[in-house]
Order: sequence, then C-alpha cells, then structure tokens
Amino acid sequence: MSEPHNIYVHVPFCMAKCRYCAFWSMANPCPDWNAYQTKIISEINEWGDRLGADTVVPTVFFGGGTPSLMPVDVFGHIIQAIYQKFAVSPDAEITIEANPGTLAKDKLMGFVASGVNRISIGVQSFDDEKLKFLGRIHDARTAWHAIEQAMSTGVRVSGDFIYGMPGDTPDTVRNLCREINNLGISHCSLYELTIEPNTPFGKMNLDMPSNNEMADMYTTISDTLKLPRYEVSNYAVAGNECRHNMNVWDGEPYIGIGRGGAGRPYINNGWYEQMGGRVQCTPMSDTERAIERIITGMRTVRGVRMDGAVQNIINMDWIRAHPDLVRVHDNRISATSAGMLILDDIVLNMTE
Ligand code: SF4
Repeated sequence: MSEPHNIYVHVPFCMAKCRYCAFWSMANPCPDWNAYQTKIISEINEWGDRLGADTVVPTVFFGGGTPSLMPVDVFGHIIQAIYQKFAVSPDAEITIEANPGTLAKDKLMGFVASGVNRISIGVQSFDDEKLKFLGRIHDARTAWHAIEQAMSTGVRVSGDFIYGMPGDTPDTVRNLCREINNLGISHCSLYELTIEPNTPFGKMNLDMPSNNEMADMYTTISDTLKLPRYEVSNYAVAGNECRHNMNVWDGEPYIGIGRGGAGRPYINNGWYEQMGGRVQCTPMSDTERAIERIITGMRTVRGVRMDGAVQNIINMDWIRAHPDLVRVHDNRISATSAGMLILDDIVLNMTE
C-alpha cells in the first residue's frame, strides 16, 4: 500500500499576464477546456493506476495560473476523477486559488457545491494604483467583495498580498495589515515583491526598497497582523494553516498534475522527482530529499523533522553553537525570529 499522497493540479491559464509574474501560466482567457480536462484526467488515471486506488489523499490543491477561470463543470469532472482513482480522506482539504476578477457568485457557489472547502484569493493590494501597477485585472472593491462573498459560503478563505513595491514603507505595510485584520480572514500570505528577470518588471529598472527597508517592512507585518506567522510568508489562526502546503513543506509525498506542476512521489520505498504533464519521474536519493525537506521545513515556524535522513546531513555542533538563530525542540529544528531573517545562510551552515 502506498504512503498518502497530496495532489497538486496546475491550471496554467490567466485572463492576462501580471507584470511581476514568473509562474508557468499563459494569458488565455478562453482555452480549450475540453482538451485540458481530458489531459488532466488521463494523468490522474495514470497516477491512480501507478500508486493504487487505496492511496489516501489528504489534500488537493488547484493552483495556477488562475484555477478560478476554469468552468465549474470542468472542475467537477477533475475532482470526480480524483475521488474515483484515490482514497480521498473524508476530511480532505480541497483548495482552489482564485483571482477576484474571475469569481462571480454563481461560479464561487459552483466550486463550493463541487467540493471546494478552501479558497485562496489573490488580492495583492487594496490600493487601485498599485493593482494597476502590478497589472492585475481587478480593482480593490472587487477584491473586497470576492473575499466577503467567499467568507459567506462558510469555507475557509485566505488572501494573498504583495508588499515591498516601489514607494512602500513600514507605514504602507502597517495600513495593509490593518485592512487585513479588518477583513477577519483566518489565513493570509504576504509575499515580498521579487523582480524576476524575464518579466515586464525585470526590464523596467524599478526603484525598489533596499534590503534594510524590506526587513523593516517584514518586521512590521508580524508586529501589526493579528494572524500569527507559521511560515516565512504565511499567517493563520492556529488550525487554519494551509494543510496542503504544510504537508509538502514537512516532506510528505505529493504528485503534480498538469504541465507546470511538480511532485515528489514516494514509490516502493524510494523518492522521485516528477514534473506535471507526465507520469515518468526520476529517482532521488534520501539525501537529496532530506536537503529539500530542510530548505522547506526551516521556512516554517514548527521547523524540520529530525528523522534519520535529516540527522545524517546536519551539523549539530553548528546548531548547538547558535541558539540565537536556531533551536531544537520536540525532535524538530526551527529558526528563531532573528534566524528567519537570514534563513538561506542558516540552511547552508547547518548542512555543511
Ligand atoms: S493571475 Fe497569478 S499566475 Fe496569472 S499572471 Fe497574475 S500572478 Fe501570474
């Protein structure tokens, strides 16, 4: 019997391309949904045959791209195929990412009626000028409305936000956090704007805040936001963390469905690296997988689990010598608040 596997489904279509975006997605508001559905379901069927129908699925995450662009019936057929081929847990977390500009009420209700129990809404900002600057297709009012409507369905709702844009200061970030507090959502993600080379922003020579200014904004978030941080960029009421991401960051197996997705299946006692769009995958050593687990686990407040593979590659002397940066607790290692600001250095040092 296979280990439980979480499932990620990639939906690579968007209404328009945002100016900062380096995700695998294309501007295509009217793709051939039938072809997409057929391809995704055939991948699901192949994975189901490979892992076995008794494989438990604790979480399914539809990410993108813009999954909320997908017609409800296409979503329904895909989720049905997952239920048919796997032993989806009765309390499985089923998340869909949504762009407020594509989330009309009937569509939202359709997703919820088809099994979605968590909606992650890409708000990014409550400032219309900033939304235009980012190249978003919606305004702030539409985003507020989408969050309110999603909350009224009773499912768990998260909002994604971006800070650290040109002109942002701790004050603007404080205001954003206060607005998030007023929303009453139980989960949000706040990502620092990073400029990727092959994007419109990458070619614009933007006047970005300095590293010190970014660090001040980051500290302002935890000082102002009512939701506690549980990962570098994620905040939630206890018990409302994104289970899918927590499972992935903790090193549980997952598969990626759809081109642009990625997975780390665990088959016959071995780890594999897998790209969405095909079922073939490449073996990974326990050490390679343990390094990944350290990188993702150290980003979480609960830290990385110290099982045998992790213990084999960490430098306990360095860890014990730096209690200001890392701590050991409950068979886990995590970064302190000071350590969170220099995570890349810590991961390098603790695995040397
Ligand atoms: S909606 Fe999301 S995936 Fe699509 S272009 Fe914008 S940031 Fe990228």
